[in-house]
Amino acid sequence: MWLEGRHALVTGGGSGIGRATAMRLVREGATVTIAERNAETGAQVAAAIEDMGGSAEFVQVDVAQEQEVVEAIQSVVKRHGRLDVMVNNAGIGAGAEGWDTTIGVNLSGVLYGCTHAIAQMREQGDGGAIVSVASIAGLVGGFGTAYVASKHGVIGLTRDLALATAADGIRINCVCPGYVRTALTQAMWEREQSDAHIADMVPAKRWGEPEEIANAVVWLASPEASYVTGTALVVDGGFTAR
Ligand code: NAD
Repeated sequence: MWLEGRHALVTGGGSGIGRATAMRLVREGATVTIAERNAETGAQVAAAIEDMGGSAEFVQVDVAQEQEVVEAIQSVVKRHGRLDVMVNNAGIGAGAEGWDTTIGVNLSGVLYGCTHAIAQMREQGDGGAIVSVASIAGLVGGFGTAYVASKHGVIGLTRDLALATAADGIRINCVCPGYVRTALTQAMWEREQSDAHIADMVPAKRWGEPEEIANAVVWLASPEASYVTGTALVVDGGFTAR
């Protein structure tokens, strides 16, 4: 197991990529705190992990509210004494909200997760790993201006903060998922002809599954990626390789 005895926090862990990441972290031996805005799904995922024999708790958090992110990290430290892995996954989709809300959740939320996790990890003094969920919309346009700007910003802050923390043994990376079948893309994959449309756009000719993104997130969070920092790992079935 890659993360035996480590303590992780996953924002947006109540659904989709965050849920799959929480499950995989637990399978790798970590305890997981689900920091989620939706109390119902957040509590459900924590209960499902406990049913699997893992250790999980749920804290209700809106990542756009800095103080709530601080309190979520404090709750992990209070319960487990430390924070080893921070996953900034919570996000809202293209076109779901306007500029301020999209930037507030998708970019400021990630910044708060990074800066407060860094402060905690520096205090611990023995490194740590932070992984944020960006998007192919962090690399190319065509997904709505606010969403694209927020995800380009996640890649930028990942690189900048990675430089500032590399000497402390804190690794900061992000993943760039392509089209993944989650609640966020539900309107798209429920549409008739969705599979044909995806097959036209994506070289792998299919949707990605949340577990395929979780695999990359958890690898980046693990000691297997001990020399990897400041990177944006693309997991997109070849979409951006065209
Ligand atoms: P999802 O809707 O299934 O899950 C997102 C979760 O984040 C939900 O549980 C939601 O309640 C939570 N959340 C939203 N706003 C929040 C807030 N302010 N505070 C706390 N929690 C909040 O979607 P998903 O596809 O699993 O998305 C996860 C991440 O992956 C997002 O950052 C998204 O932008 C990114 N992403 C998704 C895709 C895709 O195709 N699904 C592609 C690229 C990137």
